[in-house]
Amino acid sequence: MSELWDLSQLITPSRSTLYHLDLAGIDTPYVESLTGHITRLAESHSVYPGVLMEREIAPLLAKQYAGANLHTIYKHTCALNGTGVMASDLAQALSSLTAHNKLHLLTLLPWSEVFPSRALLRSTRAWCPKCYEEQRTNHCEIYEPLLWTLNLVGVCPIHQQVLCSICPHCNQPNLPLSWRARVGHCSKCGKWLGNLSPTPSKDNELSETELEWLIWSANAVGELIAVAPGLAVKVPKERVANGISNCVKLFSEGNVAEFARLIQSPKNTVWLWCNGKNLPQLDALVKLCFRLRSRSLNCSPKM
Ligand SMILES: [Zn+2]
Ligand SMILES: [Zn+2]
Repeated sequence: MSELWDLSQLITPSRSTLYHLDLAGIDTPYVESLTGHITRLAESHSVYPGVLMEREIAPLLAKQYAGANLHTIYKHTCALNGTGVMASDLAQALSSLTAHNKLHLLTLLPWSEVFPSRALLRSTRAWCPKCYEEQRTNHCEIYEPLLWTLNLVGVCPIHQQVLCSICPHCNQPNLPLSWRARVGHCSKCGKWLGNLSPTPSKDNELSETELEWLIWSANAVGELIAVAPGLAVKVPKERVANGISNCVKLFSEGNVAEFARLIQSPKNTVWLWCNGKNLPQLDALVKLCFRLRSRSLNCSPKM
């Protein structure tokens, strides 16, 4: 029989050290967060995220801040989804372990030039119980969207209800990533966080206007997240100054003071934005768009 065997050496594609999981929600407003991806990856290897970080990722990070030792960065784990060096180092290390080249899209790195990092991300985990419950009921991948990590996003745009940040079972908050994190479960008591019942106490406290703003802003941020994969390069910060300057021309005939009144912001602040000397924080930028939204339909350019 041996004369029938093909004994030429087979070319085997290189293997990644860790599983190459699909990136949940990629190319949509609901792409998963990098911390959520680590949690799923750890679960697929049957280890805690803390163990995965310490044993596999830490050796690839030669940084003094010990970015992979969760015990030392607990309070800063939100930065792992952000615009800075912690997010870029982690995405890079994880890319070499999983053979992924799009992990930066699970963070806000594509927007690092235009989103000031201060107050950008919430320091504790937030979630929509209905999203979790529907993912489980429909046998979909259970994951945590990047959208939920942003401070500005207070509601789930799909279910239009306030995000939760306190576990209903143990009444404790969760960190964005913790040693024993498990997708869809509380990292403190381990119980399931999905639920189809509304959260009336929180939703009822909001006025109609507040709820409209929260839904509008969450959708606006979702649109930004969804277009990130299509960006050839990072958006330069000059684009923000140019955009706001054009709005001043369009809505107030170039009058900064009038425009500042229109968007209810201090004149000096708007002037600094227009001149590129200061970048608006994400909430200010989205609020500006929200206040101009109804006017844009009735306004023709006056250049
Ligand atoms: Zn939801
Ligand atoms: Zn709990």
